[in-house]
Amino acid sequence: LGTWRMGESRADATREVAALVLGLDLGMTLIDTAEMYGEGGAEEIVAKALQGRRDDAFIVSKVYPQNAGAKSAPAACERSLKRLRTDRIDLYLLHWPGSIPIAETVEAFERLREAGKIVRWEVSNFDTRAMRSLEATKNGGHCATNQVLYNLSERGVEFDLLPWCAGRQMPVMAYSPVNQGALATHRKLSALAAAHDVTAAQLALAWTMRDPRVITIPKSSTLARVDENRRAAALVLTPDVTRQLDGLFPP
Ligand code: NAP
Repeated sequence: LGTWRMGESRADATREVAALVLGLDLGMTLIDTAEMYGEGGAEEIVAKALQGRRDDAFIVSKVYPQNAGAKSAPAACERSLKRLRTDRIDLYLLHWPGSIPIAETVEAFERLREAGKIVRWEVSNFDTRAMRSLEATKNGGHCATNQVLYNLSERGVEFDLLPWCAGRQMPVMAYSPVNQGALATHRKLSALAAAHDVTAAQLALAWTMRDPRVITIPKSSTLARVDENRRAAALVLTPDVTRQLDGLFPP
């Protein structure tokens, strides 16, 4: 469950909380958020959805690159924990590469892990070159995953990053899996989906999940879409459908 664009307006809060609660009820237990989203507002929405059921969820949150230093990272993490109303973040990640040396960020994450404030850490928007230099950093091998843009229209990571991660048994998290809604209304994708009694969004999500090492985090504040997206997890793409998708969206 993604949360970008949540927590930005009070008027939408009830709807957003309800969407996350439904997702949890349906077994979509990984919730992805960030200090950036709604400038903390999304983390507060997550806290409301998790009231009385913290252990049902695997919480992922992110630190701004400018807050990822030896002193700033622990402070940012404390603020996130407070907004999330929890004692730990299951996976804490660097939102994108910044100017603070990666070795300093890794050390800050390792201290947070030792203190039990976070369970694991990862990075986001790291290309293969950045992953290589992370790997060469002390404790860089503890990185749990890399969260990157990946969907039918954005397949660049297939050329280098996905094989690199696969070689290290490292899962990848696909963000914007329905390309921020655009794939849900894609004409040719919708036609292919309709021929198989599913929706374009479901086909797009099932496609990101065709590789079991890929975790996909669609965001929706709409109850019917959360249910629709959940059902995509049950779809298995046949080789014929996969071929047709490759034709529509060449890598
Ligand atoms: P997304 O999940 O691909 O698309 C979200 C948009 O699609 C929303 O406008 C949503 O509308 C709509 N939508 C969702 N399911 C739909 C369906 N079944 N039918 C039609 N429309 C549907 O894009 P995203 O939010 O950019 O990415 C997902 C999550 O990844 C984010 O929320 C965030 O947690 C994370 N992310 C991380 C980074 C990073 O730098 N690490 C960057 C971007 C995103 P409604 O909400 O109105 O239903």
